Amino acid sequence: MVDEALYDILVIGAGPAGYTAGLYGARAGRRTLMLDSGIGGGQLATTFRIENYPGVAGEVSGFELAETMKKQALHFGAELVQDEALELTVEEDYFQVRARNKTYLGKTVILATGASPRKLDVEGEERLAGKGVSYCATCDGAFFRDKKVAVVGGGNSAVEEALFLAKFAREVYIIHRRDQLRADKVVQEEAVNNPKISFLFNYVVDEIVGEGKVTGVKLKSTVGKGERFVDLDGVFIYIGNIPNTSLVRGLVELDERGFVITDEELCTSQKGLYAAGDVRQKFLRQVVTACADGATAATSAALYLSKRGA
Ligand code: NAP
Repeated sequence: MVDEALYDILVIGAGPAGYTAGLYGARAGRRTLMLDSGIGGGQLATTFRIENYPGVAGEVSGFELAETMKKQALHFGAELVQDEALELTVEEDYFQVRARNKTYLGKTVILATGASPRKLDVEGEERLAGKGVSYCATCDGAFFRDKKVAVVGGGNSAVEEALFLAKFAREVYIIHRRDQLRADKVVQEEAVNNPKISFLFNYVVDEIVGEGKVTGVKLKSTVGKGERFVDLDGVFIYIGNIPNTSLVRGLVELDERGFVITDEELCTSQKGLYAAGDVRQKFLRQVVTACADGATAATSAALYLSKRGA
């Protein structure tokens, strides 16, 4: 079924970039639809705490912040529909998004589909997913009360989620392939000072072991020939993200790592099609920069429509 309405701005993805695009699109007086395959909020919604979003004093949960953004966009008239976009095509002077339940039409599109967790790609990872292997500490952390877990990765996500897991777990290892973390200093210090957290530097996971549930990991040294086994109840993988670009592959220019290339107005190589947030090539991936992208993309889209008299 085709949604007869032709939206001015069709936003695909309702994380911080999508919600902000919705807010700015609606406030520009443009009929704006935000489409999301899930409940919205993106990766923000599963982040246990946010303390570096300006204007938010102290700690706020990612879920709370995402809900506030959603309410604000809806308040100004943006629409939100839960439906999974499957295909994006360019028609003569509009875009068509075929989704699971309906087909939606937009004079412009803002791609705000974010990124998904990168997989380790080792034996046991897929087989034990949901059985001790997780990509979301906020979702699964509480199942590991008094258990022994490991987080893989050395970035902000790995270290912050290790701190979250330390609230429940008996012991938390951070397994990192180098001897230096990539995470912000303030977060690193918190982890170093947490008595439940210890570090396994210069190791990569070679295999996740367990029959029916995780019982440990086999590690391989990155600096020598060493190998070791660590018995564990859970493994949380935070080794970066892969941009969600399946809708635009072949339609817009991507960089060598698969991120969407945009100009200063966040327009892609396809006129009328914008990209915002983690899905695009950029220097800093944070909630605040995702929101800034949403604002820029919607403002650019509205201006583009005005220039065309649409
Ligand atoms: P990230 O910053 O890209 O870090 C990924 C980590 O995983 C790195 O330490 C990397 O090691 C390691 N890694 C990558 N591939 C690996 C592999 N195959 N095996 C083992 N280790 C591997 O990713 P992220 O932590 O998910 O963060 C994504 C973005 O969101 C970043 O820009 C981050 O700053 C931002 N973020 C910000 C906050 C915050 O400001 N509070 C919170 C969360 C995320 P190397 O260090 O050796 O490359």
